[in-house]
Amino acid sequence: METTQLTPNLQQLNRLRFVNAYLVREPDGFTLVDTTTGGAAGALIASAQRAGAPIRRIALTHGHGDHVGSLDALRARLGDAVQVQMPDLDARIHAGEQVTEGKLPGSWPKLATAPDVRLQAGDRVGSLEVVPCPGHSPGHVAYLDTRDRSLIAGDVFTTYGRAAVSSHFYWRFPLAAMATWDRPQDVQAARTLRGLDPALLAVGHGPALADPGAAMDAAIAHAARKLG
Ligand SMILES: [Zn+2]
Repeated sequence: METTQLTPNLQQLNRLRFVNAYLVREPDGFTLVDTTTGGAAGALIASAQRAGAPIRRIALTHGHGDHVGSLDALRARLGDAVQVQMPDLDARIHAGEQVTEGKLPGSWPKLATAPDVRLQAGDRVGSLEVVPCPGHSPGHVAYLDTRDRSLIAGDVFTTYGRAAVSSHFYWRFPLAAMATWDRPQDVQAARTLRGLDPALLAVGHGPALADPGAAMDAAIAHAARKLG
């Protein structure tokens, strides 16, 4: 697990140069945002230990397998000492409800862990404000740290090479587009996140960007053109 300290409160944990999770520092320990793919529980726990505090909460941006992959193993190792929070619609999909018409793209692995909290618009997870931004998945949320306006945007944007909205097929990371549920909503979600005027953009796939406004604008304009 390659770690990068992005701000005093935010550390990026990168697995296999493919997918990121984040440790968000709070007074009582860390909120872990996303869990990467399966097999990472030990490395995620070790990263928190190295950073000097326990994981208190796990907050998920969405239900895809490369974000929830180590959730069950983390629950098995950490037990009820961690609270698991998942966006409501994606939690309902994982619970077996049919919340959309047709087949959902992306990987939705079977989870043994039911979230303790199903997140709604306006909820907070410690210092993080829950920002609904559906499109990549039906329930996708981003997390805005209101202490410094760092934004953990999940898979609404990718940043390999340059910032791109996951609605359109970008050769540097084609998986994001292939897993996206509703392209017009995803572009709208990108606009919502741009409107937050984040100081830092941290994503599920790719490096973090400081002062991301211009890069987000360019990505949104490009994605909107591709929608036609
Ligand atoms: Zn995804």
